[in-house]
Amino acid sequence: MSTQTVDPTPPNVKLPEWLAKPRVPGLPPHDVEMPHPALSFEFMPPRTEALEAQLWACVRRLEPLAPRFVSVTYGAGGSTQQRTHATVTRLVTETSLLPAAHLTCVGASRAEVDAVAEQYWAAGVRHIVALRGDVPGGGAYEPHPQGYAYAADLVAGLRRIADFEISVAAYPETHPAARSPQDDLDSLKRKLDAGATRAITNYFFETGTYLRFLDRCLATGITAPIVPGIMPVSNFAQAVKFSAICGASVPAWLGHMFEGTESDPETRRMVAAVVAAEQVRLLQANRIDEFHFYTLNRPDLTFAIAHILGIRAKAAG
Ligand SMILES: Cc1cc2nc3c(=O)[nH]c(=O)nc-3n(C[C@H](O)[C@H](O)[C@H](O)COP(=O)(O)OP(=O)(O)OC[C@H]3O[C@@H](n4cnc5c(N)ncnc54)[C@H](O)[C@@H]3O)c2cc1C
Repeated sequence: MSTQTVDPTPPNVKLPEWLAKPRVPGLPPHDVEMPHPALSFEFMPPRTEALEAQLWACVRRLEPLAPRFVSVTYGAGGSTQQRTHATVTRLVTETSLLPAAHLTCVGASRAEVDAVAEQYWAAGVRHIVALRGDVPGGGAYEPHPQGYAYAADLVAGLRRIADFEISVAAYPETHPAARSPQDDLDSLKRKLDAGATRAITNYFFETGTYLRFLDRCLATGITAPIVPGIMPVSNFAQAVKFSAICGASVPAWLGHMFEGTESDPETRRMVAAVVAAEQVRLLQANRIDEFHFYTLNRPDLTFAIAHILGIRAKAAG
């Protein structure tokens, strides 16, 4: 005897119910004529030998995707200065990639920050991601008495040192310490006016939030590219923790997507790929043609999503 419950809806009323709502048009098909989007990848300097091996495996896997540049983060308060420098220098000498070094203002005098920038220039690094940074361990930000107070000041300082390409940070959901959303946009404009050529956004999960941010940037007189930062989430619990710190909201639907996958890494990875793929496809359908990936030194999701965006690995040589 079957124990299945029977759907109480008589079959003859189901179809009208399905057809009652307007149709969703769906994402446009891939336009193969469309130029491929430009990608950039963000790496973290490794803390241990094992993590060093993981980073370089990640670099080698993503290198054939020929990103426009790759960037290496700078630990809170400059805590990874040596490791960031070593990683960036190795990228210059051992790969075909164009590295950008993240550099922050926090906890250092202008002379110290300038010296780091000069070392980068001497090592052949031509691109800096210029940031204010945060106080290590949290707490209210206080500029160093002889330091650059804000990222805009650092951009101006870098311009005086050498002809760096400079990227800066942008916050579609407003920086957590900003006096107001408009004030935050005005400070983004100051960074670009000081000589940065692009902004990379904090990650976000609602595409509409980012697209509305672009409208607000344009209304503020910003015309430089505001490249979306894409975080392919595979560890949902960690993403929730990190998002609370960096001011990215986590929508309920995302939690629902990962619900019940805590001890099922394979399903979690598939869900992660679908979430990120839907996000970039929707952005691409809105004519966004540059993407910055927070790789967390793990290449697989980024590689798959780049593939979905139309990017194919180039043969070596
Ligand atoms: C793409 C990206 C990469 C990052 N990489 C790193 C990294 O490698 N290392 C790291 O430590 N952190 C990194 N961060 C985090 C960043 O350092 C923090 O978010 C930091 O709190 C703000 O940095 P910012 O460069 O945006 O600062 P700013 O642009 O200086 O802005 C900081 C805050 O001050 C306000 N502000 C700006 N100018 C003024 C002014 N004149 N008067 C009053 N208020 C003002 C702004 O509205 C904002 O609230 C990154 C963030 C992003 C989005």
